[in-house]
Amino acid sequence: AAKAAGRGKHCFFEPSMHSEATDRQLLENDLRGAIERDELSVVYQPIVRAAGEEMAGFEALVRWQHPKRGAISPAQFIPLAEECGMIGKVGEWVLHQALHAVRQWPEDVRVAVNLSPIQFNDPRITEIVDAALTASGVKPSRLELEITEGVFLADSDITDATFTRLKDLGVRLVLDDFGTGYSSLGYLKKAPFDKIKIDQSFVRGAASRSNRNAAIIRAIVTLAESLDMDTVAEGVETHDDLQLMRDLGVSQIQGFIFGRPSPLEEASLLASSRSVEADGHQYVREPR
Ligand code: C2E
Ligand code: MG
Ligand code: MG
Ligand code: MG
Repeated sequence: AAKAAGRGKHCFFEPSMHSEATDRQLLENDLRGAIERDELSVVYQPIVRAAGEEMAGFEALVRWQHPKRGAISPAQFIPLAEECGMIGKVGEWVLHQALHAVRQWPEDVRVAVNLSPIQFNDPRITEIVDAALTASGVKPSRLELEITEGVFLADSDITDATFTRLKDLGVRLVLDDFGTGYSSLGYLKKAPFDKIKIDQSFVRGAASRSNRNAAIIRAIVTLAESLDMDTVAEGVETHDDLQLMRDLGVSQIQGFIFGRPSPLEEASLLASSRSVEADGHQYVREPR
């Protein structure tokens, strides 16, 4: 049966199965044609330099508007795509969208794209990224690839070689969700990251909690600086947390305080305005 075939194989509808499993499979089936049916889109969330309020870039985040179920979170459908072999296609589509987007922004504004560990460990990943850069004409240094600690669970020789090849292309590598893995420090030693993204679980509400979170963030910043890496704090929602991140020397800020993920037209307005106010709503338009 599908189960015996193992994970990654049961990507078809099998009516005899338990309803929860069936529901998952229905969703997987729907995801198969989602790009062709124009149900996926990419939204862009601002990343701001902590020192002033200048735009550093945007993170590209995929969205799925399901015709019957409405919006489905990437936290739900990305794992599905990973399990049944669709992440390569979805991820490559997002990459092309993001590179198209960054062309419309000022030269010093970057775009960050999330790479699933499965994409990262695909032996063709360097060619895929290279081809996308060539097709779009975007300078490699304007592309940041966000990778989670999950990439290190695979064969380490292949992983090491991939890091080298991607760095040789000239793209920037970001370690996403830093601090949530099992051996975060070991990973820093292994790979040539340009930036560390401090996980939201350390950031959100840090100013109003005990100072343990602040102590951890301070240590991450010190470490990153001595390794010549930038830092970005993700999940900054309040002025107090923003102030704390600045006091701790975090170099970039991402969070609802500077903007939610928004469609390309809105992101492009923001990009050309060059700077953004904390909680400033002057650029936020209501959805029509
Ligand atoms: P991530 O890469 O860590 O992305 C950050 C997530 O935090 C986004 O959720 C973003 O909307 C949310 N976020 C940012 N600032 C704040 C804040 O101030 N407060 C709160 N509450 N949330 C904030 P989103 O878009 O739902 O994405 C969730 C995860 O799905 C991403 O986490 C990433 O792991 C994955 N994902 C999204 N798009 C892609 C994609 O194109 N490819 C891959 N492989 N994964 C993706
Ligand atoms: Mg990310
Ligand atoms: Mg993250
Ligand atoms: Mg995450």
